Amino acid sequence: MDFFNYKKNGLAAEGVGVARIAKEVGTPVYIYSRKTLVRHYDAFESAFTTVPHLICYSVKANSNLAVLKTFSDKGSGFDIVSGGELFRAVKAGADVKKIVFSGVGKTDEEIEYAIKKKILMFNVESPQELRAINRIAKRLKTVAPFSIRVNPDVDPKTHAYISTGLKENKFGISVKDAVSEYAYARESLKNLKAVGIDCHIGSQLTQVAPFVAALEKVKSLIIKLRKAGTEIKYLDIGGGLGITYEAETPPLPSAYATEVIAATRGLDVTLIFEPGRVMAGNAGILVTKVIYTKNSGKKSFVVVDAGMNDLTRPSLYGSYHAIEPVRPRNREEIKADIVGPICESGDFLAKGRKIERVEPGELLAVKSAGAYGYTMASNYNSRPRAAEVMVAGNKYEVVRKRETLSDLIRGENAKLSGLAPAKSKKVLKKGKK
Ligand SMILES: *Cc1c(COP(=O)(O)O)cnc(C)c1O
Repeated sequence: MDFFNYKKNGLAAEGVGVARIAKEVGTPVYIYSRKTLVRHYDAFESAFTTVPHLICYSVKANSNLAVLKTFSDKGSGFDIVSGGELFRAVKAGADVKKIVFSGVGKTDEEIEYAIKKKILMFNVESPQELRAINRIAKRLKTVAPFSIRVNPDVDPKTHAYISTGLKENKFGISVKDAVSEYAYARESLKNLKAVGIDCHIGSQLTQVAPFVAALEKVKSLIIKLRKAGTEIKYLDIGGGLGITYEAETPPLPSAYATEVIAATRGLDVTLIFEPGRVMAGNAGILVTKVIYTKNSGKKSFVVVDAGMNDLTRPSLYGSYHAIEPVRPRNREEIKADIVGPICESGDFLAKGRKIERVEPGELLAVKSAGAYGYTMASNYNSRPRAAEVMVAGNKYEVVRKRETLSDLIRGENAKLSGLAPAKSKKVLKKGKK
């Protein structure tokens, strides 16, 4: 449920007209609804009130400082996957004691940064990483808390690119190897302390069954580990709950909670969740302007000012995003590819989409763009990245300025004063040397 609704003057984000924001801030623009973010957080939080738990919002879904601040004000922790995300979380006022650090490729620098910040725990994804954290903690004369991210080898039944809990995926450590790694850490890695166990099986899950299947495997592992003398205080279930983009019917947080609570009953753990998409996805839209329309004789195209560099999901995963005019006028329906200005045939927001016949200059709203939208944006084709706006009630604020042309070349160096000039060679004529 979200707070983007059609009113007399077209689509509104809470109490603010989308057309007004587009006029004042320009397009393309991401618009987030704070009330929606809060609502999603509260729905999750209240579903788990009966058991000890901690929500660690997954920063990579939407890492804008204003979004992070909204969640940290609610008491949320954070799931980070890089030093950059740790930096953002800290800047947004996060409680570092509620930060968990996941990811298969943590560098020495990132590990050191996180140890110094005293985060809640590292979710370790390989035996080598475990040793690296121990080595760095030893150098810093401290003890680092960790969980092992186990790969339970269950099929989350989602898109191949966002499935993470299968043996063929790069994530985590197998259940069998986890047992020996915990044992090795207990006996030989004196600058580590096990505090929990972690498992994240994928994203955009629309069924609870794969979560429960993963929990069953993790449960028996916890019992085994405790018998061997490893302390398991936290059970981190990861994120992954899906949202409705088109016609999916993912379980509500309450239904998900019922089954998770049942599957973990009697385990005596604090549950940790790392939801990203379900928090931010439907709390944001991308607003874009129609530049041209054209027809190739075979196909209709609506060319808009947002491309795959602004919203990559359709190009990368073939994802569906609902797209609607900001001011619908009940015109005849056409079937069109809605495409961006980027020089790639893979640059589209929608293919063969039914939409009313729109005109150049008109605004379109790309729905469900609050997660994995701006965070995946790039400058491809030297396009400045879009602005981001947060709406709260009848007010809005720009929470990230649109990039300028100078932003595009920040840090670049064309002088090459330290290098010999690259002289242009004379073009050799045929036959001559
Ligand atoms: C991406 C990710 C999440 C969030 O996934 P959602 O599907 O957005 O909920 C949580 N945990 C880890 C380790 C992740 O990589």
